[in-house]
Amino acid sequence: MRVAIAGAGLAGLSCAKYLTDMGYTPIVLERRDVLGGKVAAWKDEDGDWYETGLHIFFGAYPNMLQLFKELDIEDRLQWKEHTMIFNQPDQPGTYSRFDFPDIPAPVNGIVAILRNNDMLTWPEKIKFGLGLIPAMIQGQNYVEQMDKYSFSEWLKQQNVPPRVETEVFIAMSKALNFIGPEEISSTVILTALNRFLQEKNGSKMAFLDGSPTERLCQPLVDYITERGGQVRLNAPIQEFLVNESGHVEGFVIPARNGAPEEVLTADVYVSAMPVDPLKLMLPKPWQELDYFKQLEGLEGVPVINVHLWFDRKLTDIDHLLFSRSPLLSVYADMSNTCKEYANPDRSMLELVLAPAADWIGKSDADIVAATMAELEKLFPQHFPSPAKLLKYHVVKTPRSVYKATPGRQACRPSQKTPIPNFYLSGDYTMQRYLASMEGAVLSGKLTAQAIQQDLRTS
Ligand SMILES: Cc1cc2nc3c(=O)[nH]c(=O)nc-3n(C[C@H](O)[C@H](O)[C@H](O)COP(=O)(O)OP(=O)(O)OC[C@H]3O[C@@H](n4cnc5c(N)ncnc54)[C@H](O)[C@@H]3O)c2cc1C
Repeated sequence: MRVAIAGAGLAGLSCAKYLTDMGYTPIVLERRDVLGGKVAAWKDEDGDWYETGLHIFFGAYPNMLQLFKELDIEDRLQWKEHTMIFNQPDQPGTYSRFDFPDIPAPVNGIVAILRNNDMLTWPEKIKFGLGLIPAMIQGQNYVEQMDKYSFSEWLKQQNVPPRVETEVFIAMSKALNFIGPEEISSTVILTALNRFLQEKNGSKMAFLDGSPTERLCQPLVDYITERGGQVRLNAPIQEFLVNESGHVEGFVIPARNGAPEEVLTADVYVSAMPVDPLKLMLPKPWQELDYFKQLEGLEGVPVINVHLWFDRKLTDIDHLLFSRSPLLSVYADMSNTCKEYANPDRSMLELVLAPAADWIGKSDADIVAATMAELEKLFPQHFPSPAKLLKYHVVKTPRSVYKATPGRQACRPSQKTPIPNFYLSGDYTMQRYLASMEGAVLSGKLTAQAIQQDLRTS
């Protein structure tokens, strides 16, 4: 039984992996010459890696952690101290921490919040805690209902003081979906808070020990190909061929680099492409179906990943940092956090620039200049001098994960479609882990399960 899968991001590769476990033969077709989609990375002429995004793995990622186990690569996750570290804009160069003690949840989270006195006052913490009670008691049902409100609206309704938003949730919102709390759906933040508070190690973070392309995607490809599947790069799907009964009968790959046009046929077809290119490729008859119409409500959000190499060490912090800068979101000194990027003498900062709508059209030089100006607040002891920038890479993603504004939950499709031999995979499809690596891996697994179930009952 052959399954053709469009897209070799984490969703497509995870779908293929679980299909091989079920005894099917997946053929993954990737448009680009690199694996990984939004986790793709490249090596420059000096042998240094640069990436689509700074990627963090959380303790609350059960499907991702299971996948690492199944691939026997768990040792590639470099777990960090259980803490969250925020820059303090009012005191440049200083940090405020939420340290999670090694005790059961939710007490460890509550203690972490109560012990932090730099960012929130006691009345603010108490009011925020009271506001969270319905989410903690009613769980995911309540969290889903709150999709009609932005997080700013939700905070106001729960009588949470405005400073809680500015001190903590602008940073958290930007980290989760590259937009601010006035735009983000409450469901996104409340889902993350619920996972972080209900699971002892939910908010514990890990960095991969090298580039995601080599250290995570390649083992997936090896696993798939060793079991008879295929993963083909430079194989863009141009069209889904549909027959008169509405079934897919082929994926069209156009002529390229001397190779003729090809129609790849299989028994079952999966789109693991992002939602934006998928919408452009829907065959005419499908566009009338409510199932596909709902996709109109989903659109990728812009984000930029900036890499800066310096002539010296700027910090020895071996963790993710929340910049709390208007320009930037999270960042890390990868020379400390990632084994393959390690350098005892020189820093390599990887910084996420978000919200990026106003920056995505600007030149790399302008983006780097603005980022360098922000570093004066993050590392006042090193900038504007004496630290010297040696080189940089800027990776722009004009449409990354879907923009999770209020009302988007209703637009997220199931993995099973109304077309009998066509399925969807991808972080935007409906699964409980938002638009994340965990969501992508889970969606791939759910697609494989849906295919297996349908084939068994047909
Ligand atoms: C800057 C940034 C930081 C992030 N940080 C985190 C983080 O810290 N933690 C976290 O969990 N998540 C993070 N994410 C989100 C995470 O990367 C994504 O949720 C996840 O990788 C999406 O996987 P996917 O397989 O659904 O989609 P994608 O990775 O987009 O994969 C889709 C694939 O389809 C291919 N494709 C498109 N069109 C075609 C076509 N016509 N034919 C064939 N192939 C096609 C694409 O090239 C791509 O390879 C971040 C994302 C970004 C951009």
